[in-house]
Amino acid sequence: MKHLLSEEGQLLYLHGIDGSYVKELDVQVLGYQDGGYILDRTIMHYQGGGQPGDRGVLVSGNKAIPIYNVRKKGKNVVHLSTVKSDIHGGRLILDWERRYKIMKMHTLQHAISAVIFKDGFNSVTTEVFPGYGYIESDSQRIKISSDGYTINRIPRPLKRYSVKRDSIDHKLLARCNLDKLPKSIDEVSIVEIEGLDVCACAGTHLRNTSEIGEYWLRAPSKRIEFGLF
Ligand SMILES: [Zn+2]
Repeated sequence: MKHLLSEEGQLLYLHGIDGSYVKELDVQVLGYQDGGYILDRTIMHYQGGGQPGDRGVLVSGNKAIPIYNVRKKGKNVVHLSTVKSDIHGGRLILDWERRYKIMKMHTLQHAISAVIFKDGFNSVTTEVFPGYGYIESDSQRIKISSDGYTINRIPRPLKRYSVKRDSIDHKLLARCNLDKLPKSIDEVSIVEIEGLDVCACAGTHLRNTSEIGEYWLRAPSKRIEFGLF
């Protein structure tokens, strides 16, 4: 779970649920430092909150500069690339196939966390990759109810909206540990899966749970593992 920091107006993937579906964007290059490009805005998710950083390419004139990861360094979102070039702008193109898999995995993680929370299990650590993910609970052994295996069968729309921190309904957000939010954050990004889950998160998500497709799920211990077929 990653939480919205209000500094991040330039992170277009946080703009409503549709923001995660923007695959290309014209950008200005503000500079190259810490091994990558600083842009005026981006569609690329930076690594953190249990979700990997995006990959893609920055196209400028006849140059195609590969971006192999995105990291937050200080206040900057750095689009990491070993190719340093003196460019001032270009078109940022996401590795969409990879990102879409991550969106499926991350949305699935929200849904599984919501299902197990109903049975009293907290998701302490979560991590997803393009086709695999895990949740670690504070229980020795997790029992997953049948709802955990039918998440993709029930189409549920997702939505994203911001709320002021001091107006948050803590009962509604019981599954998420808002104490982890830095004190400086006064506006929080909420992601809701209709009829299933409400959580503070600044990751990327699907529009509907029906997009997850076929998945597998197992809970051999306190760790739940899941993935896409
Ligand atoms: Zn999320």
